Amino acid sequence: MSRIAFISDIHANIDALEQVLTDIDAQGTNEIFCLGDIVGYGAAPAECVELVRTHCSVTVLGNHDHMVIEKGPIIGLERVAAPLCLAREQLSTEQIKWLKKLPIVVEREALTLVHSSLYEPKDFNYITAKDDAKWHFEHQRTPFSFIGHTHSPLIAIQDESVVTLETPGVGSFKLDPSLRYIINVGSVGQPRDNYPRACYGILDTERLTFAWKRVPYDIKRAQQRIRDAGLPWANASRLDIGY
Ligand code: ZN
Repeated sequence: MSRIAFISDIHANIDALEQVLTDIDAQGTNEIFCLGDIVGYGAAPAECVELVRTHCSVTVLGNHDHMVIEKGPIIGLERVAAPLCLAREQLSTEQIKWLKKLPIVVEREALTLVHSSLYEPKDFNYITAKDDAKWHFEHQRTPFSFIGHTHSPLIAIQDESVVTLETPGVGSFKLDPSLRYIINVGSVGQPRDNYPRACYGILDTERLTFAWKRVPYDIKRAQQRIRDAGLPWANASRLDIGY
């Protein structure tokens, strides 16, 4: 039996990540795969990179991770740029080296991993509508793919030329081996589906199920860290409402 845990969009939220890893440990999984965006928005980028590096057997690059390792100044909205500048200050040379080696897409037997979309993956496109899913499916060579990026759980199902989308949010979903799937595993550190608990998923390759798990964590502590680091308060206040 193989049970694989998927985490994504941790966004430097060490309080959420620690609780999720404890929960994963209790679920008896064989491996943990990370779908990127370890840094950004939150106040503990180095701690999060270290935990992902030591716990995950596969990690792909997210857009925030990419902005940290890119050459040149980080520009953009303060709520995006300030935490990335903090990450550049905090991450060790070794951690930066590790980020630079992360692949954009990984194929592992029946599974494909990518942060955003297989349609021009370096552009980090979002999959929120049927057409986005169709473009992604055109490049998907395996029955199942796993993504993050929107911070909201989603499942796209392809039955020949018909694509349907569902947003389960929590609970177990039965997978049909005759169909193809894109599964958004949700966000550990900054859920945006109006449900503030940390989100991750578990694939059971024998039972053919995917389950979204929601884990409570100390949101107040994560918010205090953001305040103490001098990052925009908007990055903290959104954690309360899960958006
Ligand atoms: Zn993200």
